[in-house]
Amino acid sequence: MWKYYLDPYLRELKTAVKKVDDNQVILEDTIFYPTGGGQPHDRGTISNQEIQDVFELGSDVVHVLDQAPFLQGNTVRCLLDWDYRYAVMRMHSALHLLFDVAGELFGISASAGSNVEAEKSRLDLVYDDVLDEPKRAALEKRFSALIDEDRPITAWWEGNKRLVQIEGYDPMPCGGLHTKSTQEIGYLSKLKRKNVGKGKERVEVFL
Ligand SMILES: [Zn+2]
Repeated sequence: MWKYYLDPYLRELKTAVKKVDDNQVILEDTIFYPTGGGQPHDRGTISNQEIQDVFELGSDVVHVLDQAPFLQGNTVRCLLDWDYRYAVMRMHSALHLLFDVAGELFGISASAGSNVEAEKSRLDLVYDDVLDEPKRAALEKRFSALIDEDRPITAWWEGNKRLVQIEGYDPMPCGGLHTKSTQEIGYLSKLKRKNVGKGKERVEVFL
């Protein structure tokens, strides 16, 4: 299993080059999360070469660099842009928590999509009503209480399926990276509603 799953807090790794193709590199192991599951790819460097993109290709993780002056078997040093990644992890966990709270308070049980970004994320909830100001205030209040409770967040595999669970709530299928507990997420700084048509409520999340 890739190192970013084994330890999402790992910021540095020495590993060997498995394959090079022009500016694309596959490593024996990696701490760089590839784009997927609504979460953007990591940033950082591999032996001082800036990462432009990280994506999954079959069972490999491909790193696209400015240049890849490496040979197969070379040892390289991976350095993660931790500030960016940690912001993304906190946001990803925030969306899960918000979804759980929306279920708890308003019986919302389905999402119509989400997008995680370091600065601002969005969550589309399947809901026939309107998440008006009082409802959003209730969401924020419950969210804050759960941050204070510092509930553990755990992830595990069942075959090919990965599940993530905030203690006390249902496990959710998710391939993304999360903080180890809710306190690390921090409070919401803003929760904005966007009108995206009937039957769907979009909230924009800022931490
Ligand atoms: Zn997720």
